[in-house]
Amino acid sequence: MLTKDRAVCIRTVDYSETSQIVTFFARVTGKISAIAKGSRRRKSAFEGPIEVLSVGDIVLAGAGRDGLATLTEYQQRPMSGGLRKNLFALDSALFASELLNRLTHDHDPHLVLFDQFTQFLEDVDALPGSAPRRDILLQLVLFQLALLAEVGLRPNFKSCANCGQAFSSAWRESYFSSPANGLVCRDCEMSFPHRTRLSSAAVNALANLRQLAQVDERTLDEIEAVLIHHFTETLGHRPKMARHVLKARPQS
Ligand SMILES: [Zn+2]
Repeated sequence: MLTKDRAVCIRTVDYSETSQIVTFFARVTGKISAIAKGSRRRKSAFEGPIEVLSVGDIVLAGAGRDGLATLTEYQQRPMSGGLRKNLFALDSALFASELLNRLTHDHDPHLVLFDQFTQFLEDVDALPGSAPRRDILLQLVLFQLALLAEVGLRPNFKSCANCGQAFSSAWRESYFSSPANGLVCRDCEMSFPHRTRLSSAAVNALANLRQLAQVDERTLDEIEAVLIHHFTETLGHRPKMARHVLKARPQS
């Protein structure tokens, strides 16, 4: 059986001297892994090793639910812009692909998420190499919120996830709780030992995402730290790329 699809490569592992095991996030098929035989040879059918974050049309043979498929065709279009010139952009895209890999299942299609992920890669790649860190972080935060929503884990930023009280900017204190999957109000926060207090800039942007584009880098870093904590709790381990994305805290 042949599978043809449009796909983005989200992970590669070297396999033997000459081959790779590659994981694709494919538009109609969903996540799927395949062996790319001979891809590490100088002259291969794929014109060199397959690169993470490359995009293109794939043809897979034997892509059953059991056993590994074989990649027979892939004309990869590697990233060529900001992702090559800006290390934070590259780290952010690798972090996003790690999260995508961990939060989706094999053969479980997410067409909307595929479009959102490839759009995120295009947007970040289109930024100049000198793009401010803040602009990349904004795109990354938006993608992570879209990812959570698409896999059915959309956090509740509209009301207290415990008592249901609607959020308003008049709240004097706001917290985020990963087990509650959302905001927790001041009256409820004592019941959630691992809650994180949110600044008013962060909670207002999360409750009204149109404001997110206007927030400063510091607030985006605060939101990113909350998201990384949330992904760590959700996955049961800290994503490997998280330390490349989090702003290093000054040593005290
Ligand atoms: Zn409450």
